[in-house]
Amino acid sequence: MEQYSHCPACNSLWHYKEIPKEYHENYSPPYYYSRVIAYQTWESDRTLYYVCPDCGARFDLMGQQINDK
Ligand SMILES: [Zn+2]
Repeated sequence: MEQYSHCPACNSLWHYKEIPKEYHENYSPPYYYSRVIAYQTWESDRTLYYVCPDCGARFDLMGQQINDK
């Protein structure tokens, strides 16, 4: 989800800052810090899903919005 510049659900801006060139090797394009929240398991670093910090919409690893209400 880090490659999304805006939330697909509420269209709020997720990319808020360009990542400095010296850190690019630790990231993948488009090299922006993202405000999207990655939820991970307790046991590992594996991401379970992503949450928009503004509208609370959840997205799976493929970028599909999760509707469980
Ligand atoms: Zn949103």
